Amino acid sequence: LSSPLPDYLTRLNPEQRKAIETTEGPLLILAGAGTGKTRVLTTRFAHILLTGRAYPRQILAVTFTNKAAKEMRERVEVLMGEPVEGLWLGTFHAICARMLRRHAEYVGLQTGFNIIDTDDQIRLLKQVMEPFRLDTKRWPANQLMGIIQRWKDRGLTPDRVGVAENTDFANGHAVSIYKAYQDRLIALNACDFGDLMLHMVEILRSQPSVLEQYHRMFRYILVDEYQDTNTIQYMWLRLLAKRADGVSNIACVGDDDQSIYSWRGAEVENILRFERDFPGAEIVRLERNYRSTEQILAAASGLIAHNDGRLGKTLRPGKEDASGEKVRIIGASDSEEEASVVAKTVERLRREGHSLAEMAILMRAGFQTRPFEERLLATGIPYRIVGGLRFYERAEIRDCLAYMRALTQVSDDLAFERIVNTPKRGVGSVALQKLRLHAMAGAGSLQKAVKERLETKDLKGKSGLALQALMDAFAEAKERLPVEGHIVAVEKLLEDTGYLQMWRDDRSVEAPGRLENIRELLRAMGDFATLEAFLEHVALVMDVENEASETERVSLMTIHGAKGLEFDTVFLPGWEEGVFPSQRALDEGGNNALEEERRLAYVALTRARLRALVLHAARRRIFANWQSSIPSRFIDEIPSRYVQHSGYRAEHGYGAGRGGFSQQRDSVFASGPVVAQRPAAARPVRPSQGALAAARMPPGTSVFHAKFGEGVVLAVDGERLEINFENGGVRRVMANFVEICS
Ligand code: ATP
Ligand code: MG
Repeated sequence: LSSPLPDYLTRLNPEQRKAIETTEGPLLILAGAGTGKTRVLTTRFAHILLTGRAYPRQILAVTFTNKAAKEMRERVEVLMGEPVEGLWLGTFHAICARMLRRHAEYVGLQTGFNIIDTDDQIRLLKQVMEPFRLDTKRWPANQLMGIIQRWKDRGLTPDRVGVAENTDFANGHAVSIYKAYQDRLIALNACDFGDLMLHMVEILRSQPSVLEQYHRMFRYILVDEYQDTNTIQYMWLRLLAKRADGVSNIACVGDDDQSIYSWRGAEVENILRFERDFPGAEIVRLERNYRSTEQILAAASGLIAHNDGRLGKTLRPGKEDASGEKVRIIGASDSEEEASVVAKTVERLRREGHSLAEMAILMRAGFQTRPFEERLLATGIPYRIVGGLRFYERAEIRDCLAYMRALTQVSDDLAFERIVNTPKRGVGSVALQKLRLHAMAGAGSLQKAVKERLETKDLKGKSGLALQALMDAFAEAKERLPVEGHIVAVEKLLEDTGYLQMWRDDRSVEAPGRLENIRELLRAMGDFATLEAFLEHVALVMDVENEASETERVSLMTIHGAKGLEFDTVFLPGWEEGVFPSQRALDEGGNNALEEERRLAYVALTRARLRALVLHAARRRIFANWQSSIPSRFIDEIPSRYVQHSGYRAEHGYGAGRGGFSQQRDSVFASGPVVAQRPAAARPVRPSQGALAAARMPPGTSVFHAKFGEGVVLAVDGERLEINFENGGVRRVMANFVEICS
């Protein structure tokens, strides 16, 4: 009838084809996870180019992350068969930054303006707040920064904030401070992240000639992850899409069930607004999921069905195969075992020929990575932390470690320098310089110099008082160590020195996560008998090179960071009440926060192509104590016919190489927490017993290391063992990374 379809259109279903070939007019593609939304958008991009409807520079394509932008660029280049230049393809902020450089003068900036980071934002805001003579304890700058950011998300410039929005904050001065802050930024030829959007919308609104220029340029607009756009992003899109000639070739793809950024101002209502703002918009629904097996899909659909107020979509499996594995629910006895089950499964899958790049461990929160990182390092499995730092490299963790080092090692000047003004204690740079000189002149270390200069009353004023208080806190911690134990001693030290309070006062979005990381750090200390043993363990863990040569790695990331991605195997640890759903969501009460957590769980499950393993621990350590935990309600909400429960015992065949997934025997356990009892003979040495491990391995002991194989202990040095490995030669490893061979 007509000419044969071009190749790139043949591998699509009819609805997807329609979404691609309906190039003219507004289009909303509303569809569940894995239905090919991103693929449609990418193919649409190529289709427009290949059919000669526009040049590459005439298409505006917005993605949610830089990673997604890169992927889309690559996919378009594959479809086009060549690299394409000059694309307007990127995140909202990246594209706005590029635009703003071209029109900076309209908002009083010059092209070379600076984009300042969070630290500078706060510093600047504090300066601006000074003349208002506010009680900074009551009205912390960080908190006001949060308010200002939310205003910016909503497109509210200082003059638009209005009376209704004029909060009581800062004795009613919030808006004036906001204005002063904006003025100050302009004077510095700088803007913050939120300004990129705010200024551009302002320019597009007030400069018809600029707007017209973009209307002429962008013939087509494509938007991914539309459910997570906030108001200012929506305004920007609407301005660019609504052309004077009435033509709006804007295509947005989204899924209301995957809206997980309301805490950052995202408005899922933008989906409803679209139909109102672009009358006659075509709505396409995609219903076939091509990503996940039937079982995983049914499990995820059953879970999200517990949310109210959904727009309602059908999701059917695209691949008709009933052979897939059920979602595995694995009960571990504690978080160490949870990590070890994951590491063993990763190892087994790798042996069976699966690529590490196709495996991901997805967490609800960043602090959860610690046991997994340690386990993966111990077993020599390469991993990467996507979108974040490794646990022990995070700033707050380094700070806390510095406190501990300064406590145990009076001469550790690097540690002391790091914490002497963290939190800000008002120790002046002159006073510090004098201390350094004094230390070099004979005192030997900064801490000793401080003590001496305090005794001789050479340290006075604010610096003197602050340092006296700091030294008192250290002295007290030293006394506590033998009596109350290292966890309590360190926790009180962090409390007495104001370090914990610093993060409690911090109102930035990252602050709660940092406190959680610190809590996790204190928890981890419980695995060691002494502070020294713990610090040595950390030093060794940090020292392990995560071989750069290996490109294949397991990905560790937060569920937020995994949006839009897919993996063959997905591990989902920590499905317990208070972890996931998070304690914050539970405390908040009501349904909104809980429904957002459930959407997150839906996003998490739908990342999996072939297998999803949900884990929960029966108990977790809270500082020195153990607390039992309740499996997440989300586990119960997955229809039972799509899940298979097992305790650690059912997993135990793993290590010995027996049994694959399909051969795993069903657990005799029903649902609920499973505290596994392992047979004593096969009990491996767990990291939690590390403090005792070395004592049991005198020279001559035959041991096994997951990476280096069998070996014989040559020497013992604290918790470090020197071992002659069959496969690795002589190496020094931590005792708790090896097992005794029987
Ligand atoms: P998410 O909601 O998670 O962002 P999505 O709707 O954007 O998912 P894609 O990532 O585009 O989905 O597609 C999911 C997977 O399905 C991809 O591996 C994609 O290549 C594949 N896929 C999409 N459409 C088809 C099709 N018609 N035939 C075969 N595979 C397809
Ligand atoms: Mg997608």
